[in-house]
Amino acid sequence: MSALIQQLNPEQHAAVTLPAENALILAGAGSGKTRVLTTRIAWLISTGQVSPAGILAVTFTNKAAKEMMARLSAQLPISVRGMWIGTFHGLCNRFLRAHWREAGLPQTFQILDVQDQLANIKRLLKALNVDEQRHPPKQVQWFINGAKEQGLRPGDVEARDQQSRQLVEIYLAYEAQCTRDGVADFAELLLRSYEILRDNPAIRAHYRQRFRHILVDEFQDTNRLQYQWLKLLAGPEDAQGACVFAVGDDDQSIYAFRGAHAGNMDDYQREFHVRHLIKLERNYRSHGHILDSANTLIANNARRLGKNLRTEAGAGEPVRVFEAPSDYAEAQWLIDEVRQLLREGLPHSEIAVLYRANALSRVIEGALFNAGLPYRVYGGLRFFERAEVKHALAYLRLLDNPQDDTAFLRVVNFPARGIGARTLEQLQDAARLRATPLSEAVDALGGRGAASLQAFLDLVAQMRFQTAAMSLPDLVRHVLEASGLNAHYREEREGQERLENLEELVNAAAAFVTQEGFGLNATAQQRQALGTASDAADSPAAIEAIDPATGETLSPLTAFLTHAALEAGDNQAQNGQDAIQMMTVHAAKGLEFDAVFITGLEEGLFPHENALSEADGVEEERRLMYVAITRARKRLYLSLAQTRMLHGQTRYNLRSRFFDELPPQALKWLSAKQPGFSQVLASSFDRDEQRGWNAPSKAVSGGFDPSTFTPPPPKTSHGLRVGQGVFHNKFGEGVVLSLEGSGDEARAQVRFNRHGTKWLALNIAKLTPVN
Ligand code: ATP
Ligand code: MG
Repeated sequence: MSALIQQLNPEQHAAVTLPAENALILAGAGSGKTRVLTTRIAWLISTGQVSPAGILAVTFTNKAAKEMMARLSAQLPISVRGMWIGTFHGLCNRFLRAHWREAGLPQTFQILDVQDQLANIKRLLKALNVDEQRHPPKQVQWFINGAKEQGLRPGDVEARDQQSRQLVEIYLAYEAQCTRDGVADFAELLLRSYEILRDNPAIRAHYRQRFRHILVDEFQDTNRLQYQWLKLLAGPEDAQGACVFAVGDDDQSIYAFRGAHAGNMDDYQREFHVRHLIKLERNYRSHGHILDSANTLIANNARRLGKNLRTEAGAGEPVRVFEAPSDYAEAQWLIDEVRQLLREGLPHSEIAVLYRANALSRVIEGALFNAGLPYRVYGGLRFFERAEVKHALAYLRLLDNPQDDTAFLRVVNFPARGIGARTLEQLQDAARLRATPLSEAVDALGGRGAASLQAFLDLVAQMRFQTAAMSLPDLVRHVLEASGLNAHYREEREGQERLENLEELVNAAAAFVTQEGFGLNATAQQRQALGTASDAADSPAAIEAIDPATGETLSPLTAFLTHAALEAGDNQAQNGQDAIQMMTVHAAKGLEFDAVFITGLEEGLFPHENALSEADGVEEERRLMYVAITRARKRLYLSLAQTRMLHGQTRYNLRSRFFDELPPQALKWLSAKQPGFSQVLASSFDRDEQRGWNAPSKAVSGGFDPSTFTPPPPKTSHGLRVGQGVFHNKFGEGVVLSLEGSGDEARAQVRFNRHGTKWLALNIAKLTPVN
């Protein structure tokens, strides 16, 4: 422990060893905030100031929580399993599992993820006969979540006009539906925990007494409700209140669009009477050129608390910039650079590809896949969100809770059982009339429809019966077969990958059982733990698996389903596999990598067009860019594409304004600075010359001044040029994306309309120009 403290610089040291009073550590990226927070926990425990059970720490992702626990258990001879370290959602879920009665939730309540919530809302709008044009489901979702994040129930929302009155009515009906189904959405987890603490003095007193130290990472991104929740939990400072240790960086506040409120930092200082404000100014993460870029960029923001960062690491490599003619060329360039980094000995996992929006990952994913490079996409369509996995989870949910209408509707006719939309509408009407779940309204229907529905219910009941004594992985495997899902995908032409994902679900269940301690004797052990420990919350298995009031255990299945819903996509890492990391900039917060690629740096994409019309929009985008840049330790690459296919349209893009806000001396342009896409499409694009930093940095498109002159398309021996339409006997029509080599070595990369992108050897493939 003392060795850890010794590694700290004087400011960090002061922060770690502050007395037990409220504090704020305000510092830029990579200055050691997270490290200070973790070390403080270790210091508090090892100096006997608090027991592990007396600590509550909030992290931004599940992954960060796990990392923190891993570090602590490496440093201290304690079991960290029972510690309350997690995201706001994770911690609130844990809280509600212990207090489901007070929460008015069934013990096995399921969590609705974002997609489930949207499906629920769509169903509701239909039932209420609300015109989707007038109230688009996504907008309703946004309204409901926004209200909840401000702590507002339907009765609290001020509705001034007809439109908002209707929204409030929908919100009310949505709540009723969730209660009937026994489900809670993400925002509900937080709001309900907050309300229990607010309305229940005994519970409040219990937790206030229990948590002596509350530590919050990424404080700048807390929203109002989270802030209020912390305030309730911490309690008044004077009496028995907890001591709060918050770390944050106003320049990294990137969740305003989701209700985060950087003003919480000011409120916190005032309302919590913060006695200690410490700034950290030394950056330990990035080399000089990278840090200069970050500092220079963020200086363009007007609203800042003002901090500076310096490094002692030396200037390091320049930031490499590449302007590609197309998204495909950008991806190809990225592959070349990645290969170079791998040759230099970098592990895959130290390379990150960042983008502003999930939709941008597809082309790069394709290129990585074709190149045979292992990669992992965080966020986006996460494992637990894939259609086949959600189908399987829906069956599992029905086993667990037959009243779960969302799950019911998802699989009642999947695989197809001849249950038509009309039958389902009748069923929903009947259920509404009787105010029961769908599964209890089946007997109201007659005819063939009713018989098929009954057969479905019987199937579910039978599966429940057959799996009652099975271990979780066996149960999952059984359900995959008995539900007909496996058979369905075996017959589907492209079902192989889906089958593999389903198999992966069995693996996930097995891993979950091992990790969470649901071994053979788990139940007995947990019961015993409950009998001896006064506070059931001292082990995560206990808090998640046991009802403290009755000692009743939560089934491994329920716990697993909760895990699936909460898993924020940041834990897809299959054990030990070394892969390139792909994620949105939002998802990269708090992380660091040796090499970082920031792609798609185009006006409208980054900064995003939606942000351009808002007052603080561009500033928030700039903070996002600051987060992206500061993820890199040694190498930073910035790239853009002049044309890009997005959402089915070709976009012609301008270079992001952020390039003008970076220090020119820190950048090295690998491509010629080109003003517009038209010249580039018309010019030959020789990949070999544009490759990496080893190539001489000469202008690629010839020595013309592009602002005044559009060169004629240069013809090569094979007569093809980039951007040209071609026809191939087998693959049909396509467009040339890039060309390389000459004579017998000449190859062309062609994007075919119907067969995707292919590299073709031009001495073999017959390509006929079509325009
Ligand atoms: P972010 O704002 O991006 O979340 P941060 O302020 O939380 O960054 P950390 O992630 O804690 O910064 O630290 C950045 C890197 O610097 C980590 O690799 C950390 O181990 C290292 N580091 C921090 N302090 C020191 C120190 N005193 N000596 C050596 N390395 C340090
Ligand atoms: Mg951090």
